[in-house]
Amino acid sequence: MSETMLDLRGVSKSFGHKAVLKEVDLSLPAGSVLGLVGKNGTGKTTLLKCALGLQRPQRGDVHILGEPAWELSAAGKERLGYVPQKIDLCPWMNIRQIAAYTGAFYPRWNKALVERMLQEWELNPKDRVGLLSVGQTQKLAIILALGHEPELLVLDEPAASLDPMARRQFLETLLDTVGERTVLFSTHITSDLERVADRVAVLKDGKIVYCGELDALKDSVKRLHVQAAATLPDGSFDVPGMLHAKLTGNEAVVSVQDFTADLPERIAQQWSASVAVEDLNLEDIFLELHHE
Ligand code: ADP
Repeated sequence: MSETMLDLRGVSKSFGHKAVLKEVDLSLPAGSVLGLVGKNGTGKTTLLKCALGLQRPQRGDVHILGEPAWELSAAGKERLGYVPQKIDLCPWMNIRQIAAYTGAFYPRWNKALVERMLQEWELNPKDRVGLLSVGQTQKLAIILALGHEPELLVLDEPAASLDPMARRQFLETLLDTVGERTVLFSTHITSDLERVADRVAVLKDGKIVYCGELDALKDSVKRLHVQAAATLPDGSFDVPGMLHAKLTGNEAVVSVQDFTADLPERIAQQWSASVAVEDLNLEDIFLELHHE
């Protein structure tokens, strides 16, 4: 069985009266790339900080790299790379200086890797950190987080400053570079996940409403078009795994989670209806999961 790099059990975190995480369970197997997706302000940063032991939840257990996150050892921290959303690097240094400065904190530092990545991402070692664009700063922060070759890389909105066209390409390059490492990254943009993440966790209203393989999510959430012989009852119309339904006379458009191949037939029998199944793209799936 593969090692679990990160394990959250029943994690709840509030700020004052505001409950941000509500009994969150999440686990991350070694070698996977997990995209944590949720709207802005849903608690992705809070979840990542709790996972890293930077914030302490009021309830629940968090283990990272097999250790309790809140008491993570120095050896554990060396196996970890983290790029926060708000990057704070010494602005007066140039890139070469900040790379040397950061490397000095780690017994193991791959200078050749750092230099190669700087070249690939077209960052000039002589450039001053404080004068870099937001996108360049983000790239630099990622390179610095990879210098000690962490086994687990945690990135909070890594493509936040990039335009939509550049985002996916950047993420794909990033994932090529990180190779076999385990990666957890957050994003509020669904398309960031395609071709980049192999697993996805959807955070909504403080809970993980889906966690699993990306392909399985696509198999799980479907839209059904139901056409019944008689008018469908607005109050009592129900379907297993229903996320929401829109009824108009004898027709219903229903989105469901946990779709199974026999569901259309069951609905057809129960409501004397014909049922057509619509596959959804990731954007639509995300909207269906977030439908109020
Ligand atoms: P996301 O990363 O999904 O945008 P955050 O985790 O940053 O969401 O924030 C979730 C919610 O928690 C927001 O409403 C935010 O205002 C609140 N929050 C986050 N950190 C703090 C804090 N230190 N004190 C009070 N409220 C906070």
